[in-house]
Amino acid sequence: MKSNKNLIFDAQHIWHPYSSLVKPSSIHEVVSAEGVRLSLADGREIIDGMSSWWSTIHGYNHPRLNDAAKSQIDQMSHVMFGGLTHQPAVDLVRKLIDMTAEPLQYVFLADSGSISVEVAIKMAIQYWFAQGFTSKQKLLTVRNGYHGDSFGAMAVSDPENGMHSMFEQVLPKHLFAPAPTCRTDEEWQDSDIAEFRQLLIDNQQEIAAVIIEPLVQGAGGMRFYCPEYLRQVRALCDQYDVLLILDEIATGFGRTGSLFAYEQAAICPDILCVGKALTGGYMTLAATMCSDKVVNGIATDGTGALMHGPTFMGNPLACRVACASLDLLLESDWQGQVQAIEQQLTNELLPYQSNEIVKEVRVMGAIGVVELHQPMDQYMDWLSEFIVDQGVWIRPFRNLIYIMPPYVISSEDLSHLTTAIGAIIDRLSL
Ligand SMILES: *Cc1c(COP(=O)(O)O)cnc(C)c1O
Repeated sequence: MKSNKNLIFDAQHIWHPYSSLVKPSSIHEVVSAEGVRLSLADGREIIDGMSSWWSTIHGYNHPRLNDAAKSQIDQMSHVMFGGLTHQPAVDLVRKLIDMTAEPLQYVFLADSGSISVEVAIKMAIQYWFAQGFTSKQKLLTVRNGYHGDSFGAMAVSDPENGMHSMFEQVLPKHLFAPAPTCRTDEEWQDSDIAEFRQLLIDNQQEIAAVIIEPLVQGAGGMRFYCPEYLRQVRALCDQYDVLLILDEIATGFGRTGSLFAYEQAAICPDILCVGKALTGGYMTLAATMCSDKVVNGIATDGTGALMHGPTFMGNPLACRVACASLDLLLESDWQGQVQAIEQQLTNELLPYQSNEIVKEVRVMGAIGVVELHQPMDQYMDWLSEFIVDQGVWIRPFRNLIYIMPPYVISSEDLSHLTTAIGAIIDRLSL
């Protein structure tokens, strides 16, 4: 069988995310995808609960996105961005400026989320350097964060969550406050931000910027926190004169119930990173946006040149598809869809809270998380088979079973996902 051959070759030669080639883990071959369904080489169809890591918000194989890609291919798939520009980049940047907070008027088109974080960090350091504050080169962030896998991004991601510890010696040392613990349904306590504030006060001469994921900490633990924390962070950044970088790569484009999570705190960052859902999951593209203040700060010592420029920066094909994806999003009733998903996830996942292996169930927007008391790492191989046998695609990590489905998912398909989560919990309870 062709598919068996592919699986064997894959296991022998191809690295997957955080995977081993000497102890390959369970893998499935996808031959096509349509709407919220993946078709596997063995003939099975499974419902996608992951949106291919937050990205395929409109579902797979969408005619509008397909048309955008095909027509752009016939004009030009790529051209270098040094000294050249094109309509897809101009259109996309205009849309991004229109849909984000008013001060965010300037855009760097990066080629992946991690790179958009690298660019954000460079912007912040250049901002101070150009003004003569050469000691302001550190970032302040919180534990349990995740900002990407490249070295600069790794250095501001949680140092202890197991992903990066072996690179500790080569990573720049930044400052980590405790992860936010405040919850939306509890009263705000000043103690929630006390350590963060103290770190900022003690190190303000060395801090260029704060970097944080707003409201949802994604790959660092699928943790949610309250908007008041973010308001306090903004106020402290203003008070002690450091820039605020918000990483909305996971939360951006409606996932938490607002177009951007920062809207729920009624604040605006100095620098904003977006990615993941930007092209509707079609191809890799991200953006770093910033305000007048940042652009002018970087220009203080003369040219104002931002020192970054990847080969595939501003790729026209990705920009054109991103334009179509943003149009689709804004024309759709995404808010109604995300609200309906939130309501259904609340109704169908919350009852699992009574199971004794479950530590907590939490829902925000189109994100549902079941946190267990124990990690599932040792069961991952049979769990992955078990999940596909339930007709769904869910990828638990550590002690977390979570879903963030495409916004277009039907209520029946969503129930299929939540029922499968129940089956996983039951199976793990045995
Ligand atoms: C996924 C993610 C990144 C990294 O994006 P890549 O495209 O994988 O490089 C950065 N920050 C957050 C919050 C993310 O979820």
